[in-house]
Amino acid sequence: MALLITGGAGYIGSHTVVELLEAGQEVIVLDNLANSSRASLQRVAQITGREPQLIEGDVRDARLLDRLFAEHPVEAVVHFAGLKAVGESVRHPLDYYDNNVGGSLALCQAMARAGVRRLAFSSSATVYGAPADMPIPETCPIGIPTNPYGQSKRMVEDMLNDLVASDPRWSIALLRYFNPVGAHPSGLIGEDPDGIPNNLLPYITQVAVGRLERLAVFGDDYPTIDGTGVRDYIHVVDLARGHLAALGFLSTHPGIHAWNLGTGTGYSVLQIIEAFERASGRPVPYTIAPRRPGDVAQCWSDPAKAMRELGWRATLGLDRMMEDAWRWQSGNPAGYAEAD
Ligand code: NAD
Ligand code: UDP
Repeated sequence: MALLITGGAGYIGSHTVVELLEAGQEVIVLDNLANSSRASLQRVAQITGREPQLIEGDVRDARLLDRLFAEHPVEAVVHFAGLKAVGESVRHPLDYYDNNVGGSLALCQAMARAGVRRLAFSSSATVYGAPADMPIPETCPIGIPTNPYGQSKRMVEDMLNDLVASDPRWSIALLRYFNPVGAHPSGLIGEDPDGIPNNLLPYITQVAVGRLERLAVFGDDYPTIDGTGVRDYIHVVDLARGHLAALGFLSTHPGIHAWNLGTGTGYSVLQIIEAFERASGRPVPYTIAPRRPGDVAQCWSDPAKAMRELGWRATLGLDRMMEDAWRWQSGNPAGYAEAD
């Protein structure tokens, strides 16, 4: 039996494929390479000694999905494929609803036709909106996401809840990621954003490697430890392992299950800069800039449910996140571009 990994050539997908291959699983990747390249999977093969099969195509393509399920004995699906840039989602909302909601809908319809009913979905802490109290447990009511990207994640969660209510044979995981950072310790795969990074860590590593001049810290007047925004950064390898734990649980527990995948600890932007400088030995020049619209002051998880039910917890600390992010960026200053 095999696992279908949509979006498996991307940042989190490629790290998850490594962990799955190393655990002896058969993996098929479906990716349209809209935000990735074949190079990531070639690197996965370098790490694991096994090249995952790539089907280049779109998750919204119903005929392709039907053929895929007919030709391969898929037992479960991990659904990473989608668009993820918050600012772009405000400018092009229809693309986000089409890819993220339309893609998930087409996938679930094809899974239903094929009788494959086990699914792990990449959701996000953004579905909680801006709760007043930290840390955030899964029992926190779903909030109102402030942008189309967050709305699309929330809409898919709603759709999956309705699906399980209509047919209890489904087993579905809603994996709510906090802030994935870092890279595989080999330095062979990592985050490779297109254009100027939106996220903090890739911005910092690109400043350190000389691709960007200086970081803008968005706001230093939040009610936090030093006035800058606080987030729950999680090493991408820990996050990837969370998927294996969730898939194991789903195989014996039908129904729908939400889990926070975070560390339970929040760090401010200035703490991240300091940790990165320590790990890399490189200075990260920065200026204080106005707050970024839509940002919350702080956000960190209560990961106790995942610990209790999955036996999973994040084990790689802040220093490892920074060291691994730097190993990837310094070894691949232009990301995968050199490998293409
Ligand atoms: P990524 O862009 O690196 O990976 C997504 C992959 O999906 C890419 O390889 C892209 O080519 C592919 N893809 C996009 N649309 C597709 C389509 N229609 N058909 C087939 N393939 C398609 O992003 P990532 O950081 O690895 O994120 C993976 C998932 O996790 C996404 O659903 C994202 O929304 C979610 N997520 C990411 C973060 C984060 O900070 N990185 C946080 C929370 C949730
Ligand atoms: N941030 C920043 N400068 C940047 C990018 C991000 O100061 O160039 C801050 C942002 O305001 C937030 C934190 O870093 O407090 C994490 O932002 P990111 O976009 O990485 O993740 P988010 O939690 O917003 O999804």
